[in-house]
Amino acid sequence: MKQTPYEEQRSFYIETYGCQMNIAESHVLDASFLQQGFRAAVHPEEADIVIINTCSVRKTAENRIWGRIGFYKHLKQSKELLLIITGCMAERLGDEIIRKESAVDLVIGTNDKTDILHMLGKDLTNSDEYQFASSYYKNGEKTAFVPIMNGCNNFCSYCIVPYVRGREVSRPTGQVVQEIHRLSDQGVREVMFLGQNVNSYTYHDRARDTVLSFPGLLKEVLKDPGSIQWFRFMSAHPKDFSRELIELIASEDKLCKNIHLPLQSGSSTILKAMNRKYDAQQYLSIIERLRRLRPDITFSTDIMVGFPGEREEDLQQTLDMMREASYIEAFMYYYNPREGTASTSMPGQIPDAVKLERLQRVIDLQKELTLQHKSSTIGKTVRVICDSISKKNPDEFSGHTEHNERIVFPRTDSVTTGDMIRLKIEKLVGTTYKGVF
Ligand code: SF4
Repeated sequence: MKQTPYEEQRSFYIETYGCQMNIAESHVLDASFLQQGFRAAVHPEEADIVIINTCSVRKTAENRIWGRIGFYKHLKQSKELLLIITGCMAERLGDEIIRKESAVDLVIGTNDKTDILHMLGKDLTNSDEYQFASSYYKNGEKTAFVPIMNGCNNFCSYCIVPYVRGREVSRPTGQVVQEIHRLSDQGVREVMFLGQNVNSYTYHDRARDTVLSFPGLLKEVLKDPGSIQWFRFMSAHPKDFSRELIELIASEDKLCKNIHLPLQSGSSTILKAMNRKYDAQQYLSIIERLRRLRPDITFSTDIMVGFPGEREEDLQQTLDMMREASYIEAFMYYYNPREGTASTSMPGQIPDAVKLERLQRVIDLQKELTLQHKSSTIGKTVRVICDSISKKNPDEFSGHTEHNERIVFPRTDSVTTGDMIRLKIEKLVGTTYKGVF
């Protein structure tokens, strides 16, 4: 095998920023390094090789990574270290990173992450295709994250993802089904399917000349889910939310009844400027159809305020939609121009102070909606997966409900982690439920 100057440097450390896909891909890198005989360093200061798996979605994420590069530059003055930058920022700003930061040894784009070991002289199978991360677990909990597609074809006018992750690629159905069987054998109880645009999954099986959509994939998996009790998915795009998917969610008990459905804005004018490819009415009709079939369904969302041209009446429409949808949770943020996207040159850029004030109003309303939902759940009996012993109180278990809300309940010998149980919600402590048997 080819020797490299780094052959004797055996320990590695991976820092990960950004989305669940990045986390999944870092897990694969981690496993590949271990398989190739490298040792995982506990602290970055001890590592011989540091990989920063970066995120470009917001400027603040990039600023933080520039700061981390500065940290390693300083560290390199006292020890030998190979610094590798990969992920979306490497894809977007690769030349600039190399030009500005002599401390960086290698810059490797999103789709070439699996080439890192080649570059270190490891003899692995090379491929130009996107290599899907298999799956990963969160802190030993019973939930596994399974990437099923990567990339995006949508080009929302504010978003960098299609430029840094490229076009959509769907993972072969057979691989996903096998992965589910493997996870079931390992005692996993819940699977979250991941993708930038998960419900546009389309796999063309050329050998059989068949094309499978996202509902088709779910049906395949649901034929033999083994020990897996719940399936979730993230992020779904409203424009790809088909009638078949709605009916499947309504009829299948194993598909969780909390749907993350990014709204971004409740104003059709702003949605058009964002190039979201749905309007407010189409979005609302998905919620209404799901509710008609399953009154127990809940929704969470992503909301952006301060997009160029957003008027007070547009914001009001967002607030109205939040009330209509009664989101139980929302990821809320204000618009930040991303170089290289269409919206940066749009007229009507909003001053930061206005953006912040609008964001605060959205956050305040969401707090009310979350509290309303949680208060209305007190006294009800819910299905819960037991995740772990509570970190705050060892006499309690911590778990989560079908609607993905945290619940703690008394520890008992008859329950172990991974069990699915029914609990009555007794009260709320902060935003956490207290449950009893
Ligand atoms: S759907 Fe829009 S926001 Fe989501 S990744 Fe694609 S371009 Fe970005």
